[in-house]
Amino acid sequence: MTGKSIIVIGAGMGGLASGIYGQINGYETQIFEMHSLPGGQCAAWKRKGYTFDCCIHHLFGCSASTKLHGLWTELGAMPRELVNPEECVSVISPEGNIFNDYYDLEMLEQHLNELSPSDSKLIKDYVKATRVFAKHDFFGEAMLGTTVGLLKMLPAMLPTLQLFRPTMQQFADRFSDPFLRRAFPLLEYSLPWMPFMVHLAKKGAGNKKDIAWPVGGALEFARSIEKRYRELGGEIHYRQKVEKILTENSKAVGVRLADGSEHKADIVISNADGRKTIMNMLEGRYTNAQIRRYCADPADETNWAVHVFLGVDRDLSKEPSALIMLLDKPVTIAGYENRSLEMQLYGFDKTMAPNGKGVIKVELVSYYSYWKKLHEHRPLYEKEKQKVAETVIGLLENHFTGITSQVEVIDVPTLMTYERFMGGTHGFTNMPNKKLDIVGSLLGKRLETTLPGLSNFYLVGNWATSMGALFANALSGKTVIKNICGTHGKRFKATPELK
Ligand SMILES: Cc1cc2nc3c(=O)[nH]c(=O)nc-3n(C[C@H](O)[C@H](O)[C@H](O)COP(=O)(O)OP(=O)(O)OC[C@H]3O[C@@H](n4cnc5c(N)ncnc54)[C@H](O)[C@@H]3O)c2cc1C
Repeated sequence: MTGKSIIVIGAGMGGLASGIYGQINGYETQIFEMHSLPGGQCAAWKRKGYTFDCCIHHLFGCSASTKLHGLWTELGAMPRELVNPEECVSVISPEGNIFNDYYDLEMLEQHLNELSPSDSKLIKDYVKATRVFAKHDFFGEAMLGTTVGLLKMLPAMLPTLQLFRPTMQQFADRFSDPFLRRAFPLLEYSLPWMPFMVHLAKKGAGNKKDIAWPVGGALEFARSIEKRYRELGGEIHYRQKVEKILTENSKAVGVRLADGSEHKADIVISNADGRKTIMNMLEGRYTNAQIRRYCADPADETNWAVHVFLGVDRDLSKEPSALIMLLDKPVTIAGYENRSLEMQLYGFDKTMAPNGKGVIKVELVSYYSYWKKLHEHRPLYEKEKQKVAETVIGLLENHFTGITSQVEVIDVPTLMTYERFMGGTHGFTNMPNKKLDIVGSLLGKRLETTLPGLSNFYLVGNWATSMGALFANALSGKTVIKNICGTHGKRFKATPELK
């Protein structure tokens, strides 16, 4: 062997990026992917002319002025056709009050003051803090910049530091207006525990149009990266599940596939679920106490367990891009009590549905165990999915009058669906005991890409980053190849040299 071959397990963001930067830097790479499509969690599929996109709400790195845009350009995903919705999300109360979380800060300030004049001081401070983030490439500097770049932002950020600690809920509690107090905690994917600082940084990015929607959605986005990989000479093998990582003398030397075939390489990179990589593919041989804790039997926590996709014979082009409906009374769906319903409405992208029609995706929280148990009795599982869809359609009828008769296609993937297609622990959640650490990741937490006692092996993607974001997981592939180049004494290249 030449010391130059790399096998990548999984064609998610981290795996594809590893392949691309590997090829650029002179390694012979191949990717084994268990599914038939690229992208992993960056997933979408078609049903009767409707595209059901299970991933992208907000794609960061869309403005040519930011460092993340540079990353996507290297990966072949930019430039591309983008849509910039006016608002990040809208919230509607049962009484019909609407809050539009505009990216334009003048519009936002005016709108908030109209909704709650008595909160004008808080609103002014909020908009001022968002402007600070809008003036800087916060995500780019945090993820791809230098310490010097981050330090340069510090003086401007100082006045906002007091806003870094509260959660969305804690900040929302400062509003005197009851509607805003209820709406505001939900603005970050209905997760009231989300650090308020993440919201400020995201609104800042949206304000300078660094957040957008890629026309065609998640699968088209992933396909453009897959295309770049192939153009660089990379090989990708679909429907090839890796079962074992082969080791010799504490070095990774290849993989064994589900069909029994063995494939050798000098380096193995896993983009697959971290827990399954460590405990199954490597049989738990390379761990320490902390890794074993992460890999312990996962807690049965709530997650976005169910998506209800509806293809509707209804024009959604005038609707907001995303909507949270506050419910007048709690409704239990799939074992979880909902006080609001969060959805995406894809009227802004004509490619997502046949002419004049639209797609609605409702995201529901539930428990893995709830679906796992039902899945053991398929008729019960299918019946529950149908019941969930009917309940959701009934609730939508309160706002979208007549929608019940306009539904043409229903699809209800659950965590069981994701588990089957992507091999994750508890669906797409990837190692549930290793928590997301968004702020830590943004503020320079080191990637966790290696395992104790095993060389020539790396992890990329969610395990390495602890961050559920496309850019962060793609970037982990770049970082790992940079590290590999370093160990081989090679200068890392981000783009191919012109011939
Ligand atoms: C519902 C949802 C919405 C999201 N919305 C956004 C958003 O709006 N913006 C954003 O930036 N991010 C979003 N994310 C997060 C983002 O999609 C993920 O962080 C990112 O795609 C994860 O990339 P990854 O590199 O960890 O790989 P993954 O996507 O986890 O891919 C891993 C790949 O490995 C393959 N694999 C697993 N086991 C094996 C095996 N044994 N053999 C071979 N192949 C295997 C899988 O099939 C998969 O293709 C969202 C995620 C979800 C689930």
